[in-house]
Amino acid sequence: MSDIPKMMRPGEGLLLVDVQNDFCPGGALPITEGDEVVPVLNRWLEAAVAAGIPVYASRDFHPAGHPSFAPRGGPWPIHCLQDSPGAAFHAALELPAGTVIVTKGTRFDQDQNSAFDQTGLEQQLRRDGVRRLWIGGLALDVCVLATVLDARRAGFAVGLIRAGCRPVTAAGGEEALARMVAAGAEVI
Ligand SMILES: [Zn+2]
Repeated sequence: MSDIPKMMRPGEGLLLVDVQNDFCPGGALPITEGDEVVPVLNRWLEAAVAAGIPVYASRDFHPAGHPSFAPRGGPWPIHCLQDSPGAAFHAALELPAGTVIVTKGTRFDQDQNSAFDQTGLEQQLRRDGVRRLWIGGLALDVCVLATVLDARRAGFAVGLIRAGCRPVTAAGGEEALARMVAAGAEVI
């Protein structure tokens, strides 16, 4: 299990990726043990609040007929439809007041796996004075991977909260971890 730093510091931010009902058991695109990230990430949320550092939460938020859906030729079953219960954050996730919600996957012409992909998140982080991100969520080998790689490309230091992530497949998760480390992310 990962240990939370004793104190998070100014200049850091906590970014939770897609901790939504449809990615948890019982959802439309369930990830094995996806809900088990919630208690882990809640401890990080508590630490972030105690340290007064900003919290960001991305969400997949698709229109009907999204190109990532299987009926449209995409790789995934229909999931995270806008305003549906499946698109809601897991009810046990204790997002603090002031959490910045980052909405993605709203385009009709392409999918956005990364929380940085055409969302303006990079600019928001710079406005907030964030230089280092702690990142966890779902799924490790899809949206977390894409988000971590984009964060590194944009020059942010990244600590990946391993216990706060679950992969779609175990092999995919291992490969994703290797790619994140190669990109300079620290696995916590
Ligand atoms: Zn999606």
